[in-house]
Amino acid sequence: MEQELVDWLKKRLPSHPALRLGIGDDAAVVDLGGSTECVVTVDAVMDGVDFELAKIDPRRAGHKALAVNLSDLAAMAARPVAAVVALVLPRRDGYNLAVKLFEGMLPLAERHNVAIAGGDTNTWDGPLVVSITAIGRPGPRGVWRRDGARPGDDILVTGSFGGSLAGRHLDFEPRVREALVLAERYEIHAAIDVSDGLSLDLSRLAEASGCGAAVAVDQVPIADAAHELARTQSDGRTALDHAVADGEDFELVLAAPPNIADRILAEQPLDISITRIGQFASNRGLWQLAAGGQLMPLSARGYVHRSSGTLAEAP
Ligand SMILES: [Mg+2]
Repeated sequence: MEQELVDWLKKRLPSHPALRLGIGDDAAVVDLGGSTECVVTVDAVMDGVDFELAKIDPRRAGHKALAVNLSDLAAMAARPVAAVVALVLPRRDGYNLAVKLFEGMLPLAERHNVAIAGGDTNTWDGPLVVSITAIGRPGPRGVWRRDGARPGDDILVTGSFGGSLAGRHLDFEPRVREALVLAERYEIHAAIDVSDGLSLDLSRLAEASGCGAAVAVDQVPIADAAHELARTQSDGRTALDHAVADGEDFELVLAAPPNIADRILAEQPLDISITRIGQFASNRGLWQLAAGGQLMPLSARGYVHRSSGTLAEAP
């Protein structure tokens, strides 16, 4: 539904001189005048969808609500500055819940020097909803967008993927510092954060850039939690299935020219690993790079085990 609405809004919304980058990226870029730009994003999380409040410490929900927003700013290589917080609280015990949510948020805000600038609260008979708007500023070299990848660029990822539902989706640290380091030191053509799944978000980046993406699936870094899920669940999904499709990893996917990617991989400038998992290709769509250099379709929803033909054209 969301993509459909985004497509409708892209057509329907009038252009505005203040809008440097509008709907459809991880965040928008707004010109505040006097050559000052701000990066702004909003995300709502709710009980029963993004977490189950009855089963967790509400502080973790508070942390997640802010972290998903900071992750979107990281995907733009923007430095977070401030956030405003809207809470829609269940009527029962709303105050204590609100306090715990903020207790979860504040350490994260402090670590990233984000001012909690205000907000709003409401109560109702429904489940908890937390909506946070985060504001950042672009780095000296501008923002990363989704639409800048070029065929031949390498696909780089931070960290590892899969199994985040085992707990990481609540406790992850958004890759804000990592993005700022990379943006300052290297030429990055495009970026996205992985909220809905490595393959799905990678396909969005490729689609926005008007190119395709070929993934060497054996190179995808797999999180321990994904191995654990594959071992303990009897649904037949492999650790790689989880890594490619689970989502909520909140790692970064980057497009970098090969010579820059080589430097990044050699220098490993972050505390977490950076891995090359493939290359952007001129063939639009999402592809799996087989050992012989052949391309096979890769479902945006996940890893496809069986070959469904090959393409004559290499990336
Ligand atoms: Mg995002």
